[in-house]
Formats: sequence, structure tokens, C-alpha cells
Amino acid sequence: MLRECLVKGIAYQGSLRTGEDLLRGLTHVIEENNIVCGRITGIGAVTQARVAYFDHEHKRYEELLIKEGMEILSLTGNISKKDGELFPHVHVVLSGRDFRAFGGHLLHDTLVYAFEYEIIPFDGKPLIRQFDKDTGLFLWKE
Ligand code: ZN
Repeated sequence: MLRECLVKGIAYQGSLRTGEDLLRGLTHVIEENNIVCGRITGIGAVTQARVAYFDHEHKRYEELLIKEGMEILSLTGNISKKDGELFPHVHVVLSGRDFRAFGGHLLHDTLVYAFEYEIIPFDGKPLIRQFDKDTGLFLWKE
């Protein structure tokens, strides 16, 4: 699928508080501002992270919880709707003390040390995620 999106004339820039759940914090921002579609980016640091990797063969997520301070080298995501709710789909690239990068699909229980974000809303109707049996993922449907 492909569609054109107009960028609204407004962008949001903000930060989350130390100790806040990163994904809940971003979800709160998009709900509070009724941002139904758009793009999320951010950088910062976390005190722990929970990320997932989607196993294509078994069509299920494997989770990893790491309880140590890490840098968020890059966070990127998009906003659409799933099950009638606003849904930020977010991936992160993290690094630890060894400076090696890793990452995955962002899950709850990732706790902010410091985090700065930009959210760029698009005009138009939200894209809707629906279960796709071929991939086992909730993908955008028209
Ligand atoms: Zn993902």
C-alpha cells in the first residue's frame, strides 16, 4: 500500500521524566494531543529496556529485558490505530557500556533516564492495523 500524507503545520517537541515508562509516555502524548497518524523520533537514555524480536519462522515475538543503563541511539516509530486505540509502533537502537548497538521493537517496562522526542503529525484518516495471517503481524490495511 502507498498513500500520500500531508504534514500538518505543527510538530511536537518534548521530553519525558526520569522513571517514566517510555512507551506509555509516548502513548500519553499522542492521546492527549489526538495525533492519529504521524512520525515519532527520539534520543536519550534508559535505566532498563524491554525489546522484542519477531521470529518469522514461529511467527511470534521473543522478548529481552535488560536491567542496566543504556543510551537510546535512535528511536523511530509511527502512529496508527489498532483495535480502535491509538497505537505507536516504535523501534529502538540501544547501546551499553561496551558501545555495541542492539535493539528491537519497543515494549512496556522500558524506563526513561532522560528522553527527548519529536512527533510530526500527518493530516488525514489514521491507518488501521489488522492481523495479517501471512506474516503473523498486525499490518496497515486500506
Ligand atoms: Zn515492531
